[in-house]
Parts: sequence; structure tokens; C-alpha cells
Amino acid sequence: MSHHVPGAPAPSPSGEPPAPGSPPLSPATLAVVAGRPPRTPDAEANVPVSLTSTFVGGGAMGTGERGYGRFGNATWEAFEEALGVLEGGSAVTFASGMGAVSAVLDLLPVGATLLVPHGAYNGTHALSALLQRRGVLRVVGVDVTDPEGVRTALAAAGPGALLWLESPTNPLLEVADLAALAALGRAAGALVVVDSTFATPLLQRPLELGADVVVHSVTKFLAGHSDVVLGAVVVREPDLLARLRQVRTLHGAIPGPWEVWLALRGLRTLALRLERSQASAAVLARRLAQHPAVTRVRHPSLPTDPGHALAARQMGGFGAIVAIEVAGGPAGADAVVDAVRLWLPATSLGGVESLIERRRRHPSEPAVVPEDLLRLSVGVEDVEDLWRDLDQALRVVAPAG
Ligand SMILES: *Cc1c(COP(=O)(O)O)cnc(C)c1O
Repeated sequence: MSHHVPGAPAPSPSGEPPAPGSPPLSPATLAVVAGRPPRTPDAEANVPVSLTSTFVGGGAMGTGERGYGRFGNATWEAFEEALGVLEGGSAVTFASGMGAVSAVLDLLPVGATLLVPHGAYNGTHALSALLQRRGVLRVVGVDVTDPEGVRTALAAAGPGALLWLESPTNPLLEVADLAALAALGRAAGALVVVDSTFATPLLQRPLELGADVVVHSVTKFLAGHSDVVLGAVVVREPDLLARLRQVRTLHGAIPGPWEVWLALRGLRTLALRLERSQASAAVLARRLAQHPAVTRVRHPSLPTDPGHALAARQMGGFGAIVAIEVAGGPAGADAVVDAVRLWLPATSLGGVESLIERRRRHPSEPAVVPEDLLRLSVGVEDVEDLWRDLDQALRVVAPAG
């Protein structure tokens, strides 16, 4: 399985040169065909789960050859090829999304400045706070919806900073202008990173918008079945790629081949799942906005949403996560979670089953997230079943009359 070398023309997903003049394949097709073994008679149609801790010697060690199970694995390479093709870069898989986040933060020299969004994923917050307390990094909060504020923070940080972006953010669903912010970051000499977990490469491709690094919690939409914890980083620069692989090899928190195989299997249906989930999310968001028990709905599909115009321009869809605030404060929100029967009260997101959670139940959740905010991860069930269940649960707190 060959890795896509940045700067070289993109290979066809099956490793064959594209027919001259053939139009590029759409991302929905690439999600199905990328990362397959070469088309030779009697070859597997799918890369198998490669269970081995070592490889027969004689390969070119130290140049990306496998050699040993901590250095490389054919199942990783298949998934990485598929994700790399989808994002337009080269992917490196990690044992979890947080493994991917920490590998990226490890690219920074000690004492560097990390600009992190106020509304970033709580694990990203907790890890940056930990690194700050240990004196490893200087951490500065930014608002991703305020490019002028980001520009000021970048100028104060000086060159060599890392601008961490997330869009849409988890769980506030703020939409960042990735092209504008990446341009500001680059002009200031910062490394620009986008956690694109909520969007997936089917809805936005940050490398094409000027980012240096894309981070995914593969656990979520990419794997898509709530049965795997996995992460990935995608880059274009060969130097960044080599450093990330080195971090993975030396820190040693490598992904398991079974998990990566499941993620590649999940990726094959990403387009179908996402299409269904985000269509249902838009329907539910519209209805929730009319519900007497709901005080606020956040979903970029709503014309009244602050991120709507930007998301419509930047993304190929509005995504499948909706956040609501409900009457009755945190107790009301907890009552709704207690009252659902079909929605699963659980953390995580991006799976085929719909999940609901009050995010501030986690002590690590940033204070900018309202206490009564419920995050809804819309799965692929029938939308009317999902609506009926939500509606009956919300009636628990709907004001009388
Ligand atoms: C879940 C999540 C992560 C962390 O990923 P894990 O796979 O749980 O380690 C990072 N960023 C975002 C936006 C997430 O939703």
C-alpha cells in the first residue's frame, strides 16, 4: 500500500494512474473505493486485519517501511490512504482522538504559545490546561467567531505559535471562517490546526482552506458505529508527516489493527449515514425551534443561526449535531434526558444511533457552555420516530398551557 507523497500528483485510490482526462471522483465515491488492495486476480477486496507484531526483515527501515508492529501496519495504511485521499493530504492514525490531539501539541517546542478556542472540545481544553500547569505551553483563549480578536492574539503571541481551530465547535456549533483564520495564522507564522471531527472530509476540507493540520476523532462520524475509539491527523508537509509518525512510534500509543479495520469499514458508508443524519438534524432543528419547552436551538441549517451564512458557504452540509437549551434550567434538561426512550442518554456522537447528553454534567466542560445545553447527535433512525420521542420527553418540561 503506497502512501500519497505530498506534492506528487494524487494517485487513484486503487494505486493505478487515473485515465487521462477522467474527472476526479467525488468524495462519496472515494470513501468507498480508496484504500483497497491492488486489483490483482484473487487479491482480497478489503485489506484484512493485519495481526502481527513483526515483519520479515530486509525492508528499508527508517524510511517508513513496517519492520515492527509499532512502526507500521497494513490495516493502518489502508485506512490512512482512504482518509488522506478524502482530506487531500497524508493521514496518521492514533489510538484515540485525544492521542491525535496530543501528538499535534507535541510538535510545539517547550514554552510555545497555544491559541485555543473558548468553545473547543473539553478534552482539548483539559489537555492544554494540563500542559500550561506543567509549564510546557503558554495557553491563550480565542473566540473562533471573532477574526479580529484572533489576529490580535496572534500578534501578541509572535511567530511559532499554534492556532487551534475547531469548526463547528463541540457542542456550541460555532462556525469558524477557516480560510480567513488560516490566512491570519499563516501570516503570523503560526501552525494552523483544525479539529474537523464534526464536519468530516465530506463536509469540509481544511487543508484546501489553508490549514496545515487536520485532526479527527475517528471514534465519531468516520467510524460511525459507536464501537471504536480512534483518532487521526492529516497533513500535507512531508516534514510534519515524518514528525507525527515519529511521535506515534516513540510515544508508542499506537492504534490496534482491529479498531482501524472497523473504522475503514465504517468509512465506506460515511456518505449515506451523514446524508441521512444531517437531513434529519435539519428537520428536528426546525421543529425544536417551535417547541414551547425549547428556549434556544443551535444548528447551522437554521437561517437564524449565527453560523448559517458562513456554513452555507464553507461546508457541503450542516452536519448532524444539534444543541438545544430547554425551559427549567439544568434540572429541566436532566428531566428531558431521563424521559427519552429511543434516544440513548450517553456521551459521544456521530454513530448510527441517536444520543442525547447534558454536556455540563462533565466537570471539564468549558464554562461557556450553558448549564442546560443538551447535545443531540442525530443518528440514522426514522426521523419521525426520533421526533415523537423527543417531543414526548420535552413535554416533561413544557410550560403548562
Ligand atoms: C470526541 C472528540 C475528540 C476526542 O476524541 P476521542 O476519540 O474521544 O479521543 C476530539 N475533538 C472533538 C471535536 C471530539 O468530539
